[in-house]
Amino acid sequence: MVEDASQVIGWQGISISVPADWSLTGFGGDARSGSMRLDSARADSKTVPIGLEVRWLQQKKTPNAQQIGQRLKELLAAVEKTAKREKTTAETWSGECVENVAQERPAQLAFRWKAGSAASGRIWYCATCGRVVIVQVYGRGGPRFLEHATQILDSIGCHGTEIGWRSWALYGLETSAPATYTLSGQQVMNIYLQLSFRQEKAEETLSIEQWSLANVQLKGQYLDEWFAVKAGSSLANVDYEKIEDEVAGHSALRMTGRRGGIIYWLSDGLRDLIRFRMPATYYDALLWECPESNKAYLVQTFSRSSQQALVRDIADRTRCHAG
Ligand SMILES: [Zn+2]
Ligand SMILES: [Zn+2]
Repeated sequence: MVEDASQVIGWQGISISVPADWSLTGFGGDARSGSMRLDSARADSKTVPIGLEVRWLQQKKTPNAQQIGQRLKELLAAVEKTAKREKTTAETWSGECVENVAQERPAQLAFRWKAGSAASGRIWYCATCGRVVIVQVYGRGGPRFLEHATQILDSIGCHGTEIGWRSWALYGLETSAPATYTLSGQQVMNIYLQLSFRQEKAEETLSIEQWSLANVQLKGQYLDEWFAVKAGSSLANVDYEKIEDEVAGHSALRMTGRRGGIIYWLSDGLRDLIRFRMPATYYDALLWECPESNKAYLVQTFSRSSQQALVRDIADRTRCHAG
């Protein structure tokens, strides 16, 4: 457990427990190959970690311990080269890392370096998600830094606990989406968060949204009134019904319907012909407000068949309040 950790940050299946003042400050790539950067609001601390970077890379072939070692060697050589350019020297160290090592991480190494700044990191290959993951926690070095960095490194998971699901967590949102859906867009703000996904090679889309300060957002409106305003023109051609429902013990609104359009005007024969290219016209959604966390959540899908069960599964995996 990380000291004064009160949040988990999760991106592309990587999840990390970090102190409350840390936030996601950068990300790139996708689930196969990408990176994320987290930074502390206390970036000038000389004793504790101030940020970290994670990189991941999908492997076609399982790398052996030697190849992992080689990759680390290159990383540390680059650190030494940079230090040299800055007319200083880098101290580097690497060794075995037994923490979290199971069959899942057949090869894992720990490393540290200290030049102008310092880092404590790990590199491993995960047999479950098939990725090589490199994590570096940054700071100024010293025993307190190392102790905290180790806690952070110990907390990192590179895939969800549920097979087929990828966890996402930031700004208080903790949710999961099926691994077959890839992130296609995002709006990352403290007050409003939207993660959009698309199923590869299909038209199916999914979005998960979180509004903070729900009481301010809703201004006393009922959920359905608020939804009508929020949805606005984006659902103008969708014919849906609203049904009272429940999520995590809160009253919720379930929407189910279809997007209108040319498909309805086609003869049966023509409809069969284009069936393979059927657009995603089925709309399903769940909207709920959590007074405990003062947040509102919306999960929506457009699919080629009704996805009520999927929307429910995601809502059930979205943690709106503790307990
Ligand atoms: Zn993994
Ligand atoms: Zn709740």
